[in-house]
Amino acid sequence: MKRILTLLVLGLMCSVSSFAQRSERNHAERFEQMGTMLRSPNVYRTASGAPGHMYWQQKADHEIEVELNDDNQSIKGWQKVTYFNNSPDQLTYLWIQLDQNERAADSRTPKMAQSSINSRMSMRQLEGIVWHDQDLGYKINSVKTMSGDDVSVTINNTMMRVDLPQPLKSGEKFEFTVDWSFNIHDRMSFIGGRPGYEFFEKDGNYLYTMAEWFPRMAVYSDFEGWQNKEFVGRGEFALTFGDYKVKITVPADHMVGSTGVLQNPEEVLSATELQRWEQAQKSYDKPVVIRTQAEAERLEKGKSKDKKTWIFHAENVRDFAWTSSRKFIWDAMAVKQGGKDVMAMSYYGKEGNPLWEQYSTRVVAHTLKSYSAKTFDYPYPVAISVEASNGMEYPMICFNYGRPDADGTYTDAVKYGMISVIIHEVGHNYFPMIVNSDERQWSWMDEGLNTFMQFMAEQEWDRDYPSRRGPAHKIASYMRSDQSLLEPIMTNSENIIQFGPNAYAKPATALNILRETIMGRELFDYAFKEYSQRWMFKHPTPEDLFRTLEDASGVDLDWFWRGWFFGTDPVDISLEAVNWYKLDNRTPAEKKADAKKAFDREESYVSKTYNAKDIEQTVLEADPATRDFYNSYNPFSVTPDDEKAYKDFMARLSQQEKDLLNSGLNFYEMKFKNVGGLVMPLIIQFNYTDGTSEVDRIPAEIWRLNETEVSKVFAKKKEVKSIVLDPFRETADIDESNNYWPRTFTPSRFELFKSAGGARGVSSGDNPMKRAQRK
Ligand SMILES: [Zn+2]
Repeated sequence: MKRILTLLVLGLMCSVSSFAQRSERNHAERFEQMGTMLRSPNVYRTASGAPGHMYWQQKADHEIEVELNDDNQSIKGWQKVTYFNNSPDQLTYLWIQLDQNERAADSRTPKMAQSSINSRMSMRQLEGIVWHDQDLGYKINSVKTMSGDDVSVTINNTMMRVDLPQPLKSGEKFEFTVDWSFNIHDRMSFIGGRPGYEFFEKDGNYLYTMAEWFPRMAVYSDFEGWQNKEFVGRGEFALTFGDYKVKITVPADHMVGSTGVLQNPEEVLSATELQRWEQAQKSYDKPVVIRTQAEAERLEKGKSKDKKTWIFHAENVRDFAWTSSRKFIWDAMAVKQGGKDVMAMSYYGKEGNPLWEQYSTRVVAHTLKSYSAKTFDYPYPVAISVEASNGMEYPMICFNYGRPDADGTYTDAVKYGMISVIIHEVGHNYFPMIVNSDERQWSWMDEGLNTFMQFMAEQEWDRDYPSRRGPAHKIASYMRSDQSLLEPIMTNSENIIQFGPNAYAKPATALNILRETIMGRELFDYAFKEYSQRWMFKHPTPEDLFRTLEDASGVDLDWFWRGWFFGTDPVDISLEAVNWYKLDNRTPAEKKADAKKAFDREESYVSKTYNAKDIEQTVLEADPATRDFYNSYNPFSVTPDDEKAYKDFMARLSQQEKDLLNSGLNFYEMKFKNVGGLVMPLIIQFNYTDGTSEVDRIPAEIWRLNETEVSKVFAKKKEVKSIVLDPFRETADIDESNNYWPRTFTPSRFELFKSAGGARGVSSGDNPMKRAQRK
């Protein structure tokens, strides 16, 4: 090997200079192992990213009785909580989440929000400043032990501390009851939020989406202790698994959809509906409509004063949500999941048709198939999509948008917006409902993973699906933002400026890049499935994800986590220069002949320029010895020394080495500059003069000795006409103008607009995908 190297260096017409020396400045530890940047592994979480041999998590079972008052839009409930202390620790108090307080008149959310006056302000902005004085917070009527004694509690905004009558030892359980009520708010108003009601003026009916509706146990964990950071609207939830038995009393003509399995269908459904329900359970190819639009429209007019109680049971869920309205159409179909049947179902008002009857339940079924193939079989008995003009997820049930215009027509944007939000919210069953990460701390752990899965499910639904997030080049505009507008993905949910790009798009894109470019599908898919299965029904942290993806694939990804998850640098790799070399394999005779040709060319130039007499005169004036030398010396004749050196050199070469010397290879020495800072592989497309092309992939580790500039030589049989860096746009390079050799000019587009009738600030494209609140 050494000899070939020597040969190359000596034989090249120009020697390859040793390229840029490493300076202190350009070694920013992009390839150092993460070490203390990650939590230390322990008996609860291993260094491989799996749950440890002493892993534990708490459990909270609930029995709840709740009644909805449709006359004054309020709710009251009673619950019995059985809290199991599986931790090794003794607890003196428990923390409970009272999310409804976030919408109260004295909420801290509007106080924390910045505000300013602009010459043009939306009504929402104004209302956000003024806030409201409606009576919307929780009324906690009592917290009692099972023997009826009051338990001392302290409410701190959206958090309630329950002081235990005596310390709860490891392995013990504590049972208590909470009696509560609150007024439901109009979630279509400026207060917004995930749960609440929507009022339909035309038919005078309410549609309730009941979520975060009961006092919920906070998470106590090995990595955080109590997660009791208050709810201020954005950072979502951290919740404990448990079993639920819930009795929901609503007006008799309401339809209820809920987390869990309906226990008393014969008491709440009509005979016809029961029969259709039976039919739906055997329908694997298309949904069966159980309550039709005509039936729902008839009920809309009735307004029954009677009540009915719906009973649902759910096992191993971290939350429980439900919906109720007399507006609901209901359809369902069965989906095979690991030898079991799951019911995919939808509830929607007439406003959702014709889109909803055509797509919703089918998209639910598609989502389960797509996500399960990459993670685990969907373990719950039902998966429900509800049309509620928003987008929010809960175990087994989620609320989505997508309403056609009043005449039943709709744009592609509405249709694809609806399909995307259903895939997304149903997909949240996997992350974070089952792989139960802490959303209050890390939005990306569920939103990023879920958006990545959503992208794949969309592409499987339709090859040309207009996915908004996933492909690398779509994150470039965010990565191009000014650094003052960027935070690492590893940033608490409340502290993110550009929430959608940071918590959804960037991590989703990063995972897509890992799968397509860094690890390859086979290694990535295995490792991602391993993570999903290790942490199914458990509480993972970012470390568990980072470690598992490396542990199960054998790929060192520390540089990738550092760059993509802990940093804000963008990718901008510049192809700075290309030098073309050929090996010198001429015989001494050929070399001299070439030199003579070059000399003669020069000679004819010289004789035209200078007076030949002058040169002759110089020779004549020299001493006789010099004159003889001039007359006899022929610099272009091959000397015996030349012959010997060449012969000896050739004798040292093996046949293989001779072949290499005579291969006629072209050497392209390319220089790359890391302008953006984020190290990435070099993906290089060589376009040859014969019209063919070829792609070489150089791992990101080429940057490990010099993080700012590298040189790489490529040996090619064919001659290269042009070179493109990152030809498939898979690295999120924010400046592609420096990716070409030779450099090419590509025009940037600028938009032209003309105001209509003097109106100012007309926004272009009222896209519901942009407008709707996606959670
Ligand atoms: Zn989401």
